[in-house]
Amino acid sequence: MDRRKLMLLGAGALTASVLPGIGRAQAPAAPSPSSTPPLVPIRLSPDQVFRTTVCLRPFRGKGPRIETETVGRKQVVHNYGHGGSGWSLSWGSAEYAVRLAMQSSPRKIAVVGAGALGLTAALMAQRAGAQVTIYARERFPFVRSAFATGSWTPSSRVAMAAEVAPDFADRWETMARYAWSMHQSYVGLAGNPVEWMDQYLVRGGGRPGPRPAYADIKADFIHLDGRINDIVPHSQPVPNDAHPFASENVQRTNMLTFNVASLAHQLTEDFLEAGGRFVPAQFHSLSDFTRLKEKVIINCTGYGARALCKDESIVPVRGQIVWLAPQADAHYGFYYGGVSVLGRRDGVVVQDVGWNEMFGWNDDNETIDPVAARESIENVARVYRG
Ligand SMILES: Cc1cc2nc3c(=O)[nH]c(=O)nc-3n(C[C@H](O)[C@H](O)[C@H](O)COP(=O)(O)OP(=O)(O)OC[C@H]3O[C@@H](n4cnc5c(N)ncnc54)[C@H](O)[C@@H]3O)c2cc1C
Repeated sequence: MDRRKLMLLGAGALTASVLPGIGRAQAPAAPSPSSTPPLVPIRLSPDQVFRTTVCLRPFRGKGPRIETETVGRKQVVHNYGHGGSGWSLSWGSAEYAVRLAMQSSPRKIAVVGAGALGLTAALMAQRAGAQVTIYARERFPFVRSAFATGSWTPSSRVAMAAEVAPDFADRWETMARYAWSMHQSYVGLAGNPVEWMDQYLVRGGGRPGPRPAYADIKADFIHLDGRINDIVPHSQPVPNDAHPFASENVQRTNMLTFNVASLAHQLTEDFLEAGGRFVPAQFHSLSDFTRLKEKVIINCTGYGARALCKDESIVPVRGQIVWLAPQADAHYGFYYGGVSVLGRRDGVVVQDVGWNEMFGWNDDNETIDPVAARESIENVARVYRG
């Protein structure tokens, strides 16, 4: 296959993972471009940067681990390893994990971990009637979940096609559909924890710089978005006079966006209001769980599970985000030249997504790369006309 074809294929897979609605045929169509107000360009300049963060996706080739293990006299339900789809799948995964946890009808449940998966599992366990305590080393805003892009990407780096169990796609679909409905119930709340945003695919911006070695590795990531085509809005072309982008090939879709600061706050409030408790705790091995008074424990330790459970099937997939000051008149996102931009309420998220999904693969370096941060802003600043 020639280099250009490879690049196009890579870009396609990547685009599907960062903008899942883009490129699908048939609609529930997004509203027509003429019905929306003109887009205000986002201020993409270095003077708008207020922080840069790095986070590791907890990827497992087999997909998230959601199963029960007996540790001493405790039932441990694992709920970790969600790769690049942890926020998106959180509720669906929690529903599954809590169903396992409730099999012995415990009155009290311990949840270990206070990231996206821990908070949603704790809330689901409360709904199921349990008294819940969350034990965690870190809470928001210091958990890795705080540094996610914040898009509905339920099959982004969620598993490898060749490694999943035969029923994985069905289980994924059930989780994705459940999570989708739960996320909708946070739309329209004060602080917009979850909201719909327009997303644009702006074609034509080639990636500058030499082609890295990872770009030629054949990646076998599973892509399942087609299974939920019926509930996710699809893309449509945008006429040139209806957008400010320096391209004649622009598509738009609507996407569910998580304003993570507000969402985490809302989930925390809901948990506390239902009688939940947080207890700071650090566990060094699974046998440390036997010290907890609860008999049933849901383990939502994300990348931390690699050391805690000695689970080397967890591969870190590094991602860096440059945060620009939020812009009140620009709540939309776009993908251009290998960089994704999302105008969230808690900051404009600029993320280099690399040449393909191997970007950041097996890289556990959580140190900020200031050169890459500067380059991602420079690359994307060319997106507007003039
Ligand atoms: C750059 C980037 C962008 C992303 N964008 C998206 C996106 O747009 N949409 C999406 O759906 N997903 C996205 N993801 C993926 C998502 O962020 C993760 O899947 C998700 O955050 C994992 O959440 P978690 O709760 O499992 O883990 P974490 O957030 O890491 O939480 C783990 C919790 O366990 C605790 N813990 C860990 N080990 C121990 C221990 N030994 N003892 C005590 N406590 C412990 C931690 O303190 C923490 O409270 C992105 C990831 C990255 C890196």
